[in-house]
Amino acid sequence: MKDNYGREISYLRLSVTEKCNLRCRYCMPEEGVCQKRHEDMLREEEMIQAVEAAASLGIRKIRITGGEPLVKKNIVSICEKVSQIEGIMETCLTTNGTLLPKLAKPLWDAGVSRLNISLDTLDKNKYKYITRRDELDKVFEGIETALKVGYKRIKINTVLIGGFNDDEIADLANLTRRYPVDVRFIELMPMWDNVEFGPQAYVPCSRVLEVLPELTSIEKGDGVAQLYKLPNAMGNIGLISPISSHFCESCNRIRLTADGKLKPCLHSSQEYSIKGMNYEGMVKTMQETILAKPSCHVPLSAEEHSEAGRSMNQIGG
Ligand code: SAM
Ligand code: SF4
Repeated sequence: MKDNYGREISYLRLSVTEKCNLRCRYCMPEEGVCQKRHEDMLREEEMIQAVEAAASLGIRKIRITGGEPLVKKNIVSICEKVSQIEGIMETCLTTNGTLLPKLAKPLWDAGVSRLNISLDTLDKNKYKYITRRDELDKVFEGIETALKVGYKRIKINTVLIGGFNDDEIADLANLTRRYPVDVRFIELMPMWDNVEFGPQAYVPCSRVLEVLPELTSIEKGDGVAQLYKLPNAMGNIGLISPISSHFCESCNRIRLTADGKLKPCLHSSQEYSIKGMNYEGMVKTMQETILAKPSCHVPLSAEEHSEAGRSMNQIGG
């Protein structure tokens, strides 16, 4: 279905939980999330019905996210059901990777076709600092297991953080020579609650091009990243610049949170609840959500914060 600005909306980001086994400083408070009542969260059947409703309106790609989707007990069953819904061409999942050693194979068998794995540093101590957990080895074990079970072109997502990992750009990019993976650098978004990451933490993606002049530009795919490649690399380098050059004009997505709120725009507090609705209600509310998509989000910069009104772990990125 098209929105009011002629954009074809074909992509739903489905957050299945707000919980996570890490505590990334820019995403989640140390004490974790404030527990919502179980009955206020979407049940598995409601999530599946919501995806069916979305598919009836032309959604073709689902990205399962969270919180950390792999801490959800019934995640394999959710993925299996989503990937079998008529009209859904791609079921993708974004994870911190720590539980992939155990779950990569079941997810592959359940029909999850693409994996994005978040990784901000290659240094054990820095990983421990930024995530407040000591799990870096598990992430690498997870990447290797996922490659072994058949995943192709895994994307490693790295949020660029000034004074934290801007000295590791070359090492992180080198992962595309070590493994057949793409590495994507993403500008840190100023969410309303990550104010401890002030202007000094914002690093534009153009820094990657300064550090790696040997990168050659390659044709842009259908995603939001500008694509480049290192000589002799197996995978690509992607630059995702939500701050320095937003991609609202080609935005093709809506979001559904784990507590059943449809979001027309990541950076707006506008939400439409589908909790407790039947299929017809969900279709109608999804149409309203698509038609409520703004032409562009609020201005974002090191000083101007998102108006999402939720933490990233409660939205799903
Ligand atoms: N737990 C999973 C993970 O970490 O991949 C999925 C959910 S997480 C919220 C999705 C993505 O959002 C991660 O790649 C994370 O690094 C990114 N993210 C979180 N807060 C962000 C921010 N303020 N700016 C840019 N990316 C952010
Ligand atoms: Fe968890 Fe992902 Fe947020 Fe890190 S970025 S705290 S792994 S939800």
